[in-house]
Amino acid sequence: MALKNNRLDHKTYQENFAEINKPLNSVEASMEASRCLFCYDAPCIKACPTGIDVPLFIKQIASGNVRGSAKTIISSNIFGGGCSRVCPVEVLCENACVLTQHNNPIHIALLQRYSTDVAMSRSWKLFSRKSSNGKKVAVIGGGPAGLSCAHKLALEGIDVTVFEKEKAAGGLMTYGVAAYKTTPEFCHQEIDWITSVGGIEIKYDSAIQGLEAFRNIREKHDAVFLGAGLGATRKLSIPGEELEGVFDAISFIYDIRTKNHSEIQVGDKVGIIGLGMTAIDAATQSKRLGAEEVSIVYRRSSNEKPCTEKEYELAKSDGVLFIWLASPKEIVGEDGRVVKLMCNKMKLSEPDASGRLKPVKTGETFAFDVDMVIKATGQEPLVKLLDEFEISHSYGRIIVNQFGETNLEGVFAGGDCVNGGKEVVDAVEAGKLAAIGILRYLGGEK
Ligand SMILES: Cc1cc2nc3c(=O)[nH]c(=O)nc-3n(C[C@H](O)[C@H](O)[C@H](O)COP(=O)(O)OP(=O)(O)OC[C@H]3O[C@@H](n4cnc5c(N)ncnc54)[C@H](O)[C@@H]3O)c2cc1C
Repeated sequence: MALKNNRLDHKTYQENFAEINKPLNSVEASMEASRCLFCYDAPCIKACPTGIDVPLFIKQIASGNVRGSAKTIISSNIFGGGCSRVCPVEVLCENACVLTQHNNPIHIALLQRYSTDVAMSRSWKLFSRKSSNGKKVAVIGGGPAGLSCAHKLALEGIDVTVFEKEKAAGGLMTYGVAAYKTTPEFCHQEIDWITSVGGIEIKYDSAIQGLEAFRNIREKHDAVFLGAGLGATRKLSIPGEELEGVFDAISFIYDIRTKNHSEIQVGDKVGIIGLGMTAIDAATQSKRLGAEEVSIVYRRSSNEKPCTEKEYELAKSDGVLFIWLASPKEIVGEDGRVVKLMCNKMKLSEPDASGRLKPVKTGETFAFDVDMVIKATGQEPLVKLLDEFEISHSYGRIIVNQFGETNLEGVFAGGDCVNGGKEVVDAVEAGKLAAIGILRYLGGEK
């Protein structure tokens, strides 16, 4: 057993990392749009965190007004193209579609993708920016929250500078989302399209750290939006975490997004700890890199799994194994390298604060052979950064008022760094709402 790269040939890597959902052509889109019932008080609108008028944009596609449909989508969600690829629609708009009761919901995401793909491929200019009013806003973090805020402000004539620590913008859309949903190339295109409105300058390789740098930014701008997301994967705090062959899921997926697939090392037998979206992405992509056996270890039973049914089915179809009611106790090593994952057997007792049945140890343990362990146990909040900036938070989640403003006057925040980690669509909405708060603040309303 060993960690190895270059396990597959070029063609297999390409097939394994291609997008799963195939786009609709114009005829398919028109036929699919004609199935919509255009419900009164449509539940799909309420189920979308950005409140896209779904029946309206579908009606516009059905009547051949693709430009109008793209405008309807983008007016509510500037990442309408990205969200059509990455949103867990099976628990959002498509779950709310009344046709779900007949097991055949409208393919809202594919229709949204059709419309926004046409708009982007034809470089349609759907909005024009008001002329510059001399106000300046700094955005720290060029992820979905930061760019959504930047776009809305730029439209209103504000000059926005985005400070981004990476070499590309898009945050986890660019560096975290699984390849089967969307490629980094699409993310770059979408960001170019978003910023083509004008008035947004992105400064790359520009991590803002320390009180002095933050004060400097505040002094030079009329307001600041913080959309820095979250940090590295949480520590397990069990013996063996430092062994060679133990990876954190965020860094593993970052490498998949930024390097050639043949360069990425993967084990023969991989143990994944956790069962959220990140764990599923790490598991399916380990398999697609050529790992022989990938097992997800989860401390509750399948009834409590946090991933969606669709993600679970995808992992199963990739051959990922699930070990239920198991909690890692120790990562066992030999000569400094991982050889086994030892787990506590768990059982479920009464519901905990989350309402799910609480896993408790049975006293029994078991171990299985692994040469790679990937920790996918959620991201740590950026507590150090927030403390440096003197921003109030609760366990790392920034505290904001209804306008997205923090304890510091003129400093707003939104996205994962406020909600603790949700979806792209929630970050986009938070950025949009904070932009409204900033406009209100710059207009002199307190
Ligand atoms: C592995 C993984 C897979 C996911 N898959 C999906 C999915 O399929 N669908 C979905 O809807 N959601 C998914 N999510 C969640 C989604 O990506 C996030 O909710 C969303 O990206 C949050 O947006 P954000 O702008 O708040 O933060 P981020 O996307 O994290 O962006 C924050 C940005 O701030 C920058 N930054 C951080 N600190 C600084 C600093 N000090 N100075 C300057 N810049 C800084 C970062 O480089 C980054 O670009 C996934 C998350 C992970 C971890």
